[in-house]
Amino acid sequence: MDKVIFLGTSAGIPTPNRNVPAVALIFEGTNEFWLFDCGEGTQRQLQKTSLKLSKLTNIFISHLHGDHIFGLPGLLATRGMLGIKSGINIFGPVGLDNYLKSSFDYSHTYIPYSYCFHPIKKEEFAAENLVWEKGDTAVYCALLNHQIDSYGFAVIRTNIKRNILVEKLVKAGLPPGPAYKKFKEDGIVKLADGRVLTSEEFIMESANVKKFCYCGDTTLSLNTVSLSDGADLLIHEATFCADKKEKALEGYHSTVDDALKVAKLAKVKKLVLTHISPRYDNVTQQCLEYDGLKEKMIKEGLIVALAEDFGEVKI
Ligand SMILES: [Zn+2]
Repeated sequence: MDKVIFLGTSAGIPTPNRNVPAVALIFEGTNEFWLFDCGEGTQRQLQKTSLKLSKLTNIFISHLHGDHIFGLPGLLATRGMLGIKSGINIFGPVGLDNYLKSSFDYSHTYIPYSYCFHPIKKEEFAAENLVWEKGDTAVYCALLNHQIDSYGFAVIRTNIKRNILVEKLVKAGLPPGPAYKKFKEDGIVKLADGRVLTSEEFIMESANVKKFCYCGDTTLSLNTVSLSDGADLLIHEATFCADKKEKALEGYHSTVDDALKVAKLAKVKKLVLTHISPRYDNVTQQCLEYDGLKEKMIKEGLIVALAEDFGEVKI
């Protein structure tokens, strides 16, 4: 099962307990991982996990506020200084490429590998859209509602399982053995008496679909609801407690209550709240409110958690 590790869960500025935003999505069976946002100090946070920069293949940036991107030039530079030669894909709002180029130009930094920038344009991504597809994995993106263009990403992985209908196959005259493996691969087998069996009748396919959704800064937004529809895991910002609704709206952010509303409307299985205002660093106030709401949501069958730096969540 794939999982995420939170590398930073604070909003705006780091605190002794929380770094600024970044989330790693790690794929099961490989050490490959992707990054969602890259706040200052993300590369140092990574060093405290077992993740290796050489296994980072895709980076998705939700929006261009500093707390989400100040770590990116440094991380990319380190990747080069470590001698990593493999290319990398970077997805983010228009302007991210200029920010990176200026950072590298003014700091006289040479990047010795190719990085491919995939600009996300508001005109094309106002509704849910496909931004990346490879093999069994697709990434969709939707515009959220923030002071500047901010996006959410949904990663959908489809794992097709092919199961041999053993009983049926035995009845047809093929006992279990090495021939089964070949039959699964070829989809066709010839029996000793000359009869030919094909996969349509004897192999059943089932799809195991997993959906992970990461949303950048936003107010309560219907696009978030449609993007995260039915997700196994939704990571949503909850900068403020519900009593700070006005303050949240002023900064185009969400309250804990807003995030819960999205999760409920989208019928997600698991919700993790992140991007926590530094005012809650002692977590007391946040937890009190959060716990009350948590109880309510558990009654409605939703799993809710508050993100912590280095916390891991399975998808
Ligand atoms: Zn922001």
